[in-house]
Amino acid sequence: MKVLLLGGTGEARDLAEALVADGIDVTSSLAGRVARPRLPVGPVRIGGFGGVEGLRSALAEYDVVVDATHPFALGMSTNAAAACAAEDKPLLRLERPGWGDRATPSWIWVDTHEQAATVAGELGHRPFLTVGRQELARFVPKLRDLHVLARVVDEPDIELPETWELLTSRGPYTLDGERALMVDRDVLVTKDSGGSYTWPKMEAAAELGIPVVVVRRAAGPAGVVTVSSVADAMRWLRTR
Ligand code: NAP
Repeated sequence: MKVLLLGGTGEARDLAEALVADGIDVTSSLAGRVARPRLPVGPVRIGGFGGVEGLRSALAEYDVVVDATHPFALGMSTNAAAACAAEDKPLLRLERPGWGDRATPSWIWVDTHEQAATVAGELGHRPFLTVGRQELARFVPKLRDLHVLARVVDEPDIELPETWELLTSRGPYTLDGERALMVDRDVLVTKDSGGSYTWPKMEAAAELGIPVVVVRRAAGPAGVVTVSSVADAMRWLRTR
């Protein structure tokens, strides 16, 4: 069995490790967005496939696809569902649970990054943006004049307003570090990414009494078998 593992997440790396340990032939796929990605064990390919058609061609080499991309990488998930349906390849979605069951009353849920920008601008003057480099442009119109701290893994392609401060770093983060960073911030903006790597910022916000604007996940493609843990993904793959 040859597995194509669409990755870019910690769980994808964990799954690659488990598959390699089991002697299963897996190739991990990364988008190539990050300059120095954390590489999974086993073979890796890097770069887009060229839309649904490109992915359909690539699927000739694989028997099974696992989509373990980030919960907000909806374009890739949608393409994977379309290509696997067209090529009649089994597809499993591995998606980490969101943070919804740990929400507190100081979280404000929104559906889009534009709404997050509006709410953040209403709530504070010194927002802390942790939404990723690719989303920053969606915050500029509303938060242009505020003292924003934007944390990203790699520098954004766009020029940021002069009042903004950019911090490049990569998780996992600690509660102490997040508390120190957020002590002079008055609103936190995040995606509902889930997982533990970036959870300490939510704890720090709770401790400091800072409201949190949380961008909700959009629904993924319908009809795809979905699991939320590497163990369940392994169980599903072993039945193939
Ligand atoms: P996206 O918007 O869903 O995908 C855009 C395009 O990037 C896809 O159509 C595909 O290009 C290419 N692509 C995405 N993931 C790929 C993969 N694993 N392997 C090969 N090509 C891939 O994706 P995104 O939100 O930019 O995320 C890019 C990568 O970063 C994903 O692997 C994701 O897991 C990871 N990531 C994303 C976030 C986030 O917040 N979005 C956070 C952490 C990590 P083609 O159409 O040419 O095939």
